[in-house]
Amino acid sequence: MSSRASFWATFSTFVVAAIVAFVISGLSFMDLRHLGTPRNALLDGSSEVRVPLPPASDGRLLPEVPVTTTGNFAFMFEDKGEPVRFDPCRAIHYVYNASGQPAGLGNLIQDSVASVSAATGLEFVYDGETDEVATFGRRLFQPDRYGEGFAPVIIGWSNEAATPELAGSITGLGGSNSVTGAYGDQRFLEAGTVVLDTTDITGLLATTQGRALARAVIIHEIGHVVGLAHVDDPTELMNASNTSLTGWGPGDLQGLAILGAGPCEGH
Ligand SMILES: [Zn+2]
Repeated sequence: MSSRASFWATFSTFVVAAIVAFVISGLSFMDLRHLGTPRNALLDGSSEVRVPLPPASDGRLLPEVPVTTTGNFAFMFEDKGEPVRFDPCRAIHYVYNASGQPAGLGNLIQDSVASVSAATGLEFVYDGETDEVATFGRRLFQPDRYGEGFAPVIIGWSNEAATPELAGSITGLGGSNSVTGAYGDQRFLEAGTVVLDTTDITGLLATTQGRALARAVIIHEIGHVVGLAHVDDPTELMNASNTSLTGWGPGDLQGLAILGAGPCEGH
């Protein structure tokens, strides 16, 4: 239960550590539009994995969201003074593992994804349910399950026994991986994970106000997936704990708009 909750924890250290294991191999590959060597192969453990080059881009899928508010926000990853972001010219695919889903959840997952999409101008596409268990140790490439390319974002459920990081009042975990793009040395977010605590969310859903707080937990975690880090400001939903906010704060919205306004990876 989480009536005196400090709901959230971030896993950026773990995620960064996971990234370090994926080393660019520098495979030589000529692309006429890029007289260089796009790095379309990565080492996943000891095996080389081919990452499809992003298609030539016709631009953003959804309009850029203008920044209309100011407040506190922070980024999960920065590189050369810029936040690491998803490519706004490709849809963010996501999958869902319903095992452990609390009764009465309704459409909170889809609703939460829609909230992050609206605030970022990033397009999300639901690829259906998966039997992959949502963890932060997941493989970034799972061609047998998802086909070529990076694994989609996964949203799933767990509990304290299976995921010790959910101990006590921690209600959810979220994050993404910062990986090098195919061209140049720009980094992008891929293969995010959200793990929600079945026990805590079940408790929240027991009351009407708790339902709004449960939604707040889910959008907070997806906020991590698209690159927002915690701030020390209880008026922002990306504060590390929350007992009253049910929607984005001004700094959250500012940060989300910036995170949705990154460069396209294809050229
Ligand atoms: Zn958090």
